[in-house]
Amino acid sequence: MRVFNFSAGPAALPEPVLRQAAAEMLDWHGSGMGVMEMSHRGPEFIAIHAEAVALLRELLAVPANYRVLFMQGGGLGENAIVPLHLLGRNPRADFVVTGAWSKKSFREAQRYGSISLAADAAVDGRYRGIPPASAWKLDRAAAYVHICTNETIDGVEYFFTPDTGAVPLVADASSHLLSRPMDVSKYGLIFGGAQKNIGPAGLTIVIVREDLLGQAHALCPSAFEYRTVAEHESMYNTPPTYAIYIAGLVFKWLAAQGGLAGMEARNIEKADLLYRAIDATGFYTNSVAPDCRSRMNVPFYLHDERLNAPFLKGAEERGMVQLKGHRSVGGMRASIYNAMPLAGVQALVAWMREFEKAHG
Ligand SMILES: *Cc1c(COP(=O)(O)O)cnc(C)c1O
Repeated sequence: MRVFNFSAGPAALPEPVLRQAAAEMLDWHGSGMGVMEMSHRGPEFIAIHAEAVALLRELLAVPANYRVLFMQGGGLGENAIVPLHLLGRNPRADFVVTGAWSKKSFREAQRYGSISLAADAAVDGRYRGIPPASAWKLDRAAAYVHICTNETIDGVEYFFTPDTGAVPLVADASSHLLSRPMDVSKYGLIFGGAQKNIGPAGLTIVIVREDLLGQAHALCPSAFEYRTVAEHESMYNTPPTYAIYIAGLVFKWLAAQGGLAGMEARNIEKADLLYRAIDATGFYTNSVAPDCRSRMNVPFYLHDERLNAPFLKGAEERGMVQLKGHRSVGGMRASIYNAMPLAGVQALVAWMREFEKAHG
């Protein structure tokens, strides 16, 4: 029996995708081979790769002057790779810290340049909102501005795109990429690990404006140099072939769900249902400002910490797993990415009500 898996990542994948992958495991389309066993330079995998890139471009309406790169190294890898590229000529960058992930990015970037904190949303060490862009201390001569558009641990999501003028905007979109449409043209670079909302761990997606290629610091490893990767269609070295194949199946599944607009409507429905249940009484709380509550990662607390263990145990007995909050913030966290069906959120909300009746 499949559970409702609320893991923040690696996370649940759409069941039809897993079924198709299982059916094709030993023999992909009559090739007599599984995808994992194929040469990345053979015609079969080249077709799989090209289709995945084309589908992703279509889903996100990626403009022609952007390159889509399939890389490795994850979100944390990009925390180093981005500054190694964009600070090659100008060492200054601005960071907006709205949670644990942008804070990590800010710290890592300090190894590579002269990094300013343009805004810090922390209040008593907690993140519950996004300072208005008009209050950010932006340096007009910076090489870029970094934001994390969905803070996976704190549950803070951007529902606006800051205007940084001529300074390229860089977004760590690891945990909500493809959960809704995004105006790619407003960003210089968007990156994300696949394992939250797209596919298996091991694949990192980078969408980068062409004029930002080719500025890398001399010490940037060749295998991570965007221009080199772009010139070789992400096959300078062996790409994460199986992860790209699964991501391609997820892209097809997304297209069949009505694309990103269709997906967004479902995600709004799921998130609204859960936040309404949290806000209904004082038994559960989420203190993120209502205008930036994440639709993907919903942290919440029980009014009495001693109830955490029995809440989690009862959830597990009802087929709902991975609801424990991140160790740094405690409480609960329900990650409700694209692949989480409405029925999963309905089951969670029913359990929350039942538990409250017994313990409230
Ligand atoms: C998970 C996550 C990361 C880290 O990704 P890795 O692939 O583990 O390096 C970075 N940023 C955000 C927003 C994340 O959710």
